[in-house]
Amino acid sequence: MIQQLFHNPDIYQIEVDLPDNPLKYLNSYVVKGKMHNLVIDTGFNRPECQKALFDGLQELDVDLQCTDLFLTHLHADHTGLVGAFATAGCPIYMHGIDYTYLKDSADGTTWRFTEQNFMREGMPAADIEKQFSNQARKYSPQINFSVKTVSDGDMVRLADTDFHVIHTPGHTKGLCCLYLPKQEIFFTSDHILFDITPNIQIWSNMRDALEQYLQSLDKVYQLPVQLALPGHRKGNISIAGRIDEIKEHHRNRLQEILDIVKTQPHMTAFEIAPHLTWSMRGKKWNEFPPTQKWFAMGETLAHIEYLVHHGRLAKEERNGVFLYALA
Ligand SMILES: [Zn+2]
Ligand SMILES: [Zn+2]
Repeated sequence: MIQQLFHNPDIYQIEVDLPDNPLKYLNSYVVKGKMHNLVIDTGFNRPECQKALFDGLQELDVDLQCTDLFLTHLHADHTGLVGAFATAGCPIYMHGIDYTYLKDSADGTTWRFTEQNFMREGMPAADIEKQFSNQARKYSPQINFSVKTVSDGDMVRLADTDFHVIHTPGHTKGLCCLYLPKQEIFFTSDHILFDITPNIQIWSNMRDALEQYLQSLDKVYQLPVQLALPGHRKGNISIAGRIDEIKEHHRNRLQEILDIVKTQPHMTAFEIAPHLTWSMRGKKWNEFPPTQKWFAMGETLAHIEYLVHHGRLAKEERNGVFLYALA
């Protein structure tokens, strides 16, 4: 489905279906300038996404010969189809940190770090193996490509329009949002979503992703926004109220962990996770699909890392696994 969201500059949204994925669809945004076009994010590297995106681009009469691609972050639902743009010779923009992660995940390095970590946090090997086929791995871009790296505060001219780059580490370490100051339009990617909460994980060279995420929410809290365009689901006209809700969600989750650990000390993260409140359409922990268990485990660990980092939880190693108690 294609929808025009703004005139001058002309901004369109292509809904790229993500089959069998709770995110439902990826919002690929197209900005059409007089001479140049911009595409923001692509969808997974799978035929269904490819058809949706390129049918949309054809309908909008987008010529790849004068099109730039901006990748907000490394996740495969945003970068999967970068190959088609690289092959066509489109300049590709991305933050250098996420570009490095993406290259390292091609040979499994990024994934191995998480697998080893999850094992030491009590997740059984069988549960880890079950998610080898998860969509983020299966549908990632299978191609080497080079990028023009962007950093916080950069002003980049794309689609004949000046965009501000705002680096908002948290959901990933290199996630960048784009902002149009004159029109007050904010492309929030997966930094701010409006009817689901962005997933926060642990990363190999990122200390306390949750703390960085909360700081990145504060960083954009005061930004004047007339139109917020997220990476998934529906957009909104403002962001401050949503930021308050997301921060409250994390505060509640941190408190939940402290309450659980208080009544049952010396549990692993994998034992703590089932006791948290998850909105999985009424499913119990044992019924979670392997990929959802994987993300829930990462989310739990990100909160535990925050509590350890802030001196609220004590971490102790016993027989090669970590156990947690109140500090
Ligand atoms: Zn993401
Ligand atoms: Zn996403």
